[in-house]
Amino acid sequence: MNNKKQCRFCANPLQHTFVDLGMSPMANSYLKAEQLQRMEPFYPLHTYVCGKCYLVQLPEFESPEHIFSDYAYFSSYSDSWLKHARDYTDRMISRFGFDQHSQVIEIASNDGYLLQYFKEKKVPVLGIEPAANVAEAAIAKQIPTIVKFFGTGTAGELADEGRHADLLLGNNVLAHVPDLNDFVKGMKIALKQHGIITMEFPHLMRLMEENQFDTIYHEHFSYFSFITVKEVFASHGLKIFDVDELSTHGGSLRIYACHSDNSSKLIEQSVSALIKRENDTGFNKLEHYVSFAEKVKQTKRNILDFMIREKERGKSFVGYGAPAKGNTLLNYCGIRTDFIDYTVDRSPHKQGHFLPGVHIPICEPDKIKETRPDYLVILPWNLKDEIMEQMSYIREWGGKFIVFIPVVRVID
Ligand SMILES: [Zn+2]
Repeated sequence: MNNKKQCRFCANPLQHTFVDLGMSPMANSYLKAEQLQRMEPFYPLHTYVCGKCYLVQLPEFESPEHIFSDYAYFSSYSDSWLKHARDYTDRMISRFGFDQHSQVIEIASNDGYLLQYFKEKKVPVLGIEPAANVAEAAIAKQIPTIVKFFGTGTAGELADEGRHADLLLGNNVLAHVPDLNDFVKGMKIALKQHGIITMEFPHLMRLMEENQFDTIYHEHFSYFSFITVKEVFASHGLKIFDVDELSTHGGSLRIYACHSDNSSKLIEQSVSALIKRENDTGFNKLEHYVSFAEKVKQTKRNILDFMIREKERGKSFVGYGAPAKGNTLLNYCGIRTDFIDYTVDRSPHKQGHFLPGVHIPICEPDKIKETRPDYLVILPWNLKDEIMEQMSYIREWGGKFIVFIPVVRVID
């Protein structure tokens, strides 16, 4: 247990609250019926902003081995995510010309959902994945995978075997890394002289603009603006030469980096344009970050105010989905079965379980046809359109959809 509150990048003491969501259980620890009567661990969900480098972060409180050892999420289950991976592969090959002589290494390669597309194009691949059960699924698909956390240790072992990456990539891993400096230093070691790094992660600017405080949970240690991530990479001898803004996960960045002394890569205009936009918005000032907390508290009051009023009128609520972000929101707002009767999820891994902390049961979607709720609360707001289409039949009995983020909104 490490309780020191120091910036994980620059070691400056952490004194400024970004947002404090109170005590919350681990967002992915769904419970079985027999666990409901037992004690349940809750951990502080209190994020800080570093007064020196402006990295927004959750201090480390639990070993990453515990967090990831039983990680049930398999990337290949999502069609839209597979399409994203295929498009990425085509783009990288056409822009940088990777072929059978190149080496692609993916950090947190999951079940091989992305590397399979490089393999199809005969580009040699290697996955690095800490969750053993997920890595096994990749190996079964003939995607070479090492079961390890990535950092200077793993990068050094690869280097000793003469393995370096022409393309080193990591999607939705940078935010999950407890030892950020060791991770980025490891990327520097694992990268070939003219190699390219790409990393995708949620963009803090979008989190703040769109009030996505529910994407804060214990597995997410860092929340990056572009100016801060650029500084982190620069301090380890890596330069960011291009950036794409993506719509995934509520708004993400894909950064492109190479060794700082690689003169073959010129810095694209996208880099200075995004720096300017962030600075104009206030990301170079502490006040901008600390102003977010009040907006979050106001959102909680608005959500509860709406639900109390509708419950008083005899209306019923059911949830749709059981995403990690839903667990943050429901625990922070104290919404239990007194407000939401049950939630539904298409994943058979979640059905029959209960949401952590709030103990709302997770049922299969057809239950909605039996109980005909007045409101269906869409917890994964990023999939709102898809879910409203799937569940449009609730309108037959006058049922309405509702999202809470960025603001409480009823959709008739
Ligand atoms: Zn810092």
